[in-house]
Amino acid sequence: MESEIVPKITKMTVSGKKQSMGFEVPCAIAEENGHTNTPQKGLLPEDADVASGVLEAVSKSTLSPQVVQVSEEQITVHTPAKKSSKAKPQIDVKAELEKRQGGKQLLNLVVIGHVDAGKSTLMGHLLYLLGNVNKRTMHKYEQESKKAGKASFAYAWVLDETGEERERGVTMDVGMTKFETKTKVITLMDAPGHKDFIPNMITGAAQADVAILVVDASRGEFEAGFETGGQTREHGLLVRSLGVTQLAVAVNKMDQVSWQQERFQEITSKLGQFLKQAGFKESDVAYIPTSGLGGENLVTRCQSSDLTQWYKGKCLLEQIDSFKPPQRSVDKPFRLCVADVFKDQGSGFCVTGKIEAGYIQVGERLLAMPPNETCTAKGITLHDEPVDWAAAGDHVSLTLTGMDIIKINVGCVFCDPKEPIKVCTRFRARVLIFNTEIPVTKGFPVLLHYQTVSEPATITRLLSVLHKSTGEVTKKKPKFLTKGQNALIELQTQRPVALELYKDFKELGRFMLRYSGSTIAAGVVTEIKE
Ligand code: GDP
Repeated sequence: MESEIVPKITKMTVSGKKQSMGFEVPCAIAEENGHTNTPQKGLLPEDADVASGVLEAVSKSTLSPQVVQVSEEQITVHTPAKKSSKAKPQIDVKAELEKRQGGKQLLNLVVIGHVDAGKSTLMGHLLYLLGNVNKRTMHKYEQESKKAGKASFAYAWVLDETGEERERGVTMDVGMTKFETKTKVITLMDAPGHKDFIPNMITGAAQADVAILVVDASRGEFEAGFETGGQTREHGLLVRSLGVTQLAVAVNKMDQVSWQQERFQEITSKLGQFLKQAGFKESDVAYIPTSGLGGENLVTRCQSSDLTQWYKGKCLLEQIDSFKPPQRSVDKPFRLCVADVFKDQGSGFCVTGKIEAGYIQVGERLLAMPPNETCTAKGITLHDEPVDWAAAGDHVSLTLTGMDIIKINVGCVFCDPKEPIKVCTRFRARVLIFNTEIPVTKGFPVLLHYQTVSEPATITRLLSVLHKSTGEVTKKKPKFLTKGQNALIELQTQRPVALELYKDFKELGRFMLRYSGSTIAAGVVTEIKE
């Protein structure tokens, strides 16, 4: 059956670099549903996942009040009263949003998986089949890769060249490419592969709504990626802890195992167990047998009887199309965390980032925190097109005037001057300690990661250890914290950071702590001190 999905791609800047995460996180066990509304939910691995699914549940139940998020379908029209102080005429954001997307929903996608699982080849081939790369260019890649003795990398080269292009041209530390499915506009987030790029990978993953996990079905290879040291688990846990709840697993290189159903089942059952423990709902994970190299089951369902005799499910593109659209916080005050800042040709300068909450119109005043200074949004660019407005979920580039570029760093948050984000150097958080060998003590130096922020910080206080199922304090002022423990701590950052309470803004209130190249904890902000 031919897929009805219509390809339309505008830009291609995905890096195909190799991936190595280099950190360990525990395999924790979540309840059937991944999250729960039970007020008694705890954060220990025995009954909780490392992921924010549980952090969410805990914080929802114990940190009240509730955060109300609005799904795209439910977005209410903004009344002019809300932003009456702003000079620009009001735009009916909901109506415009629908018009712009032609009824299509926006979805941010990240591709993860063990090195050599075939991520670059799979995505390169998918984009080629969607019409992004013309035949002549593809032929050139084939010739060149053959000459270099790496014929099998031709599709991956599609991605590599754009990586180079990106280095030469406009700077965007998270490369993006856009393509359309029947009902969605997909932004493919770059997941740069090298170990040095972990902060970028986190940046990419932190902005993703959904993920494709690529595993190599070849004998021994799936196992290598899945065992300790492999990146399959690490990436799975990472994206889940960053808020991704829906996953498509591409069981790739199925050609290498003659499209055997038994092998597919073996892999999906092993992965299924793990993903459930990591906090993914079974109903939110789909497994698709693919061949990135051959192109089977990518944009159309595979016709080969080897597969059709036992697989009647979706192809990869259909699966991407059927992801549920995420909830978007359009009705909250404007928030954009800067992913990049650069000088443009014209006046002013540009910042890029994903709008986490609210919306913006050209001409509006914005407050940057830090440095607590205002500027004007002279222009908004979405997917390389100038637009009059943009809303939560959009990756935009803003042209700003009335401010010195020197003041703005990656990690600054642009917000509504009427309802600014909080800036602090000291805050309290509820954390889950990962698989760290070294006990976490008072004075522990860490790197605080959230959104695009990466800031040196110190754990200044260990306030309490919390009970695994009740969330009650089991120990006050512990001397140290060890793996799997759920605790309340206080952190002090070197420089001021813009943060929100998790209960108010999920996206700006959850973070990871890294130490010496490893992720040692995931947490949510519970109290902002000063
Ligand atoms: P990445 O590190 O995950 O991005 O993996 P690559 O896309 O660079 O692929 C690694 C190697 O696996 C390359 O030699 C690819 O040609 C090969 N490969 C990728 N997908 C498939 C597939 O579906 N079948 C086979 N047989 N080889 C594949």
